[in-house]
Amino acid sequence: MRAIFAALAVLGVLASSPSVAGASSPDLELAVELDPGTRRLAVRADIVPATRDFRFELHETLNVTAASADGAPLPVRAGGHVGASRVWHVALPPTAARLHLEYAGTLPALDAQLDHRDVLQGLPPMASPQGSFLPAGGAWYPRPAALFAYRVTVSVPADQRAVVPGRLQSEDLPTDGSGHGSGRYRARFEFGEPAEGIDLMAGPWLVRERMMARTAAAPVRLRTYFFRDLDATPGLADGYLDDTRRYLERYGEEIGPYPFTEFSVVASPLPTGFGMPTLTYLGAEVLKLPFIRATSLGHEVLHNWWGNGVYVDYARGNWSEGLTTFMADYAYKASESADAARAMRLGWLRDFAAVPAGEGQPLADFRSRTHGAAAAVGYGKAAMLFVMLRDLIGEDAFQRGIRAFWQAQRFRTASWSDLRAAFERASGRPLKVFFDQWLERAGGPEIRIASAEARGEGGRHRLSLAVEQKAPAYALRLPVELVFPDRSELRWIDVAAERQVVTMEVATPPAGVRLDPQLQVWRVLAPEQLPPILRQWIGARAPRLALASAAPHVREAAAALAQRFFEAKPQTIAPSEITHGSEPVLLAGLHADVDEALARAGLPSRPERLAGRGSAQVWTVTDAAAAPVAVVSVRDAQALQALLRPLPHYGAQSWLVFENARAVERGVWPASAHLVPVRAAR
Ligand SMILES: [Zn+2]
Repeated sequence: MRAIFAALAVLGVLASSPSVAGASSPDLELAVELDPGTRRLAVRADIVPATRDFRFELHETLNVTAASADGAPLPVRAGGHVGASRVWHVALPPTAARLHLEYAGTLPALDAQLDHRDVLQGLPPMASPQGSFLPAGGAWYPRPAALFAYRVTVSVPADQRAVVPGRLQSEDLPTDGSGHGSGRYRARFEFGEPAEGIDLMAGPWLVRERMMARTAAAPVRLRTYFFRDLDATPGLADGYLDDTRRYLERYGEEIGPYPFTEFSVVASPLPTGFGMPTLTYLGAEVLKLPFIRATSLGHEVLHNWWGNGVYVDYARGNWSEGLTTFMADYAYKASESADAARAMRLGWLRDFAAVPAGEGQPLADFRSRTHGAAAAVGYGKAAMLFVMLRDLIGEDAFQRGIRAFWQAQRFRTASWSDLRAAFERASGRPLKVFFDQWLERAGGPEIRIASAEARGEGGRHRLSLAVEQKAPAYALRLPVELVFPDRSELRWIDVAAERQVVTMEVATPPAGVRLDPQLQVWRVLAPEQLPPILRQWIGARAPRLALASAAPHVREAAAALAQRFFEAKPQTIAPSEITHGSEPVLLAGLHADVDEALARAGLPSRPERLAGRGSAQVWTVTDAAAAPVAVVSVRDAQALQALLRPLPHYGAQSWLVFENARAVERGVWPASAHLVPVRAAR
């Protein structure tokens, strides 16, 4: 209850201060009445449309009831449908600049059963007492222009709160202590910069607030809008406020001052993960997950610069997910450890390697995440573009480029070419070849060091590397590891041809060389460079199951597990056949039986780091000569039963140790780059 009281006290002060109206009127001003219980929406809109002959879309549940200009009624015509919207048309007289519209209707019910995929497909405006979401793309307001400034006053019943992206200008609580409470909650928001649309959210939230002071800028109002149970979770809301502050400070320093005066973390009854200007709208279930504050929150905060601070020119490709992934998710991994950053790069390259041939798209064609193949390019490849760009131009020039891009493009629509221009100016070098090849070409380079040779002359040594790549060649800056008996050294080489010999001076000839061992360059990895992970079994087209044990209850449990684990129906084979064929095999059974089956098949025995641990051990076998084999080895049938639910969720792992249903340890096998021996030239 303390949270509510504190919030009320703050809101009371706010409500009593005079509201400061913007000096100029915005392009769109809305007075919204929403009653989630009846799902009734009624709106009065004042619009300065971009054209006198004004056409606009409204969701089919909404009807225009009045239109006027300068107090004189105007005829409005309803036209055809576009999807779930109707097109309306009204002509403004030559003397009038503003249009007044009134419209109302009963919104669709919010369906909390929608899954993440539905949510990504675009939603209609929806209402319910548990939560209402009127998305910017849901045609619940007339759109005056592509970009527009707005002001929204929203009124909801006393037990609800409502929020709209923008500056909170004033707020009235149902009872403000002076006895003239309206019985409704009212808040007024203004977005003074050109915006792409208006999202409106309402819910039975408790509000917590904290002010974040800034030097040389207005303070930022930090808020959580949480459902009662979420708000009551000890430390959760305060933790979100603390971490939000940390991210705002971080990116304010890295990029330029945070461009808004509020940031709110808003709980959704839907499995959403939306970043909007001044707020993030995250599923309540998601907000409870322990890692969200360390990852997604920072990503969504950063979208206030990339995506909501600088807009994306979608027709020319979406750069904002890649840049946000690079400066948030990837940066957090890099500050954790070099290994964690490498693992993330490996994850991107692996996801890319899993994209079926022919389904890859150029990065320039990426608009938004609609399927896995698009995400592998739009997030992974795009983030790697920034990894490579920073390696190419250096940290200082990269930082200057980021800040300059922000300065130049604040609240404008920018494209990849604007980014390129900023980095070209910052680094003083042309980057057309670099950006063109990573943006316009689908796929990635396939490169190898064909041979390496050292030649000594007068106490000095020259190392020659023959580097080959598939045509047409990319222009690449590649890291090469020189491996000596007692140490190794990294050198960078430049290649631009299908076959090229690169020479360098070395004090002593290395024993061997490795191409890009840390995976710093976007490319097509060879199968042997990809450590096997369970997803390759889960998604196999014709998977096979081998039962190592004879006991009926173990065999039944193994069959049930295979049913859940594989996406396709598995074929059962004898343990003696596991090395035959090429389709992935799952070998399951009791520890002793599994050991025996592996030995008979001539496969590597149980990995040392797993032996004797937990109630179940799962691992993938790396032996390029045979069919891929994954092993589930258990203490007893119960241990096998316990894996039914959890195991299919661990597709990204190579090995796991389970204690009943809980994965106590897991990991991905290391995959090392091929060592090319250095020959002595005669
Ligand atoms: Zn994002």
